[in-house]
Amino acid sequence: MANIFKRDATVHEFNWDNLGDIKAGREDLGEEMPVLVYRLMQFTMLDILTKDFGPDKANEYFRRAGFLAGTEFTKHVLDLTVDLNTFLANLTQALVDLKIGILRMEAFDPDSGDLVLTVGQDLDCSGLPVTNETVCNYDEGFISGILGTYTGKTYDVREIDCWASGDRVCRFNATVTA
Ligand SMILES: [Zn+2]
Repeated sequence: MANIFKRDATVHEFNWDNLGDIKAGREDLGEEMPVLVYRLMQFTMLDILTKDFGPDKANEYFRRAGFLAGTEFTKHVLDLTVDLNTFLANLTQALVDLKIGILRMEAFDPDSGDLVLTVGQDLDCSGLPVTNETVCNYDEGFISGILGTYTGKTYDVREIDCWASGDRVCRFNATVTA
């Protein structure tokens, strides 16, 4: 019994290394799987969290999980020593390589550090029914984690356009708050 509890404690605290050696573990099936499976996991998780905690809290949990993911992703995948333009180019390429989406910087204020970014063909929402809402709370946190880890600043990221709000791309306002 003691071992089971010990293992649970380890699994429940996120650690990049616990993502495992996917290539070695899935020698026939490989590292990729359909977007359907990702969305099935995400939207069932959102359903359960919303029923237990309400939509605002559920979205906040998604945002926080995305922030953790963005932070760890940046630390483990991206080069933090390059200048901003190179960093954004590397990030854009990494998001294509991982099939997360097609990133473009639409506006940048060098004085404040504020950005407007768009993500095309977004993993989370492209192709969803139009419900007149922005649904990419996980992405908000993800982008906030990425920008915050690179710059050392605190970014509040809000999605202002989304496939689910009737747009063809997701558009994010990233504002430096600290
Ligand atoms: Zn979206």
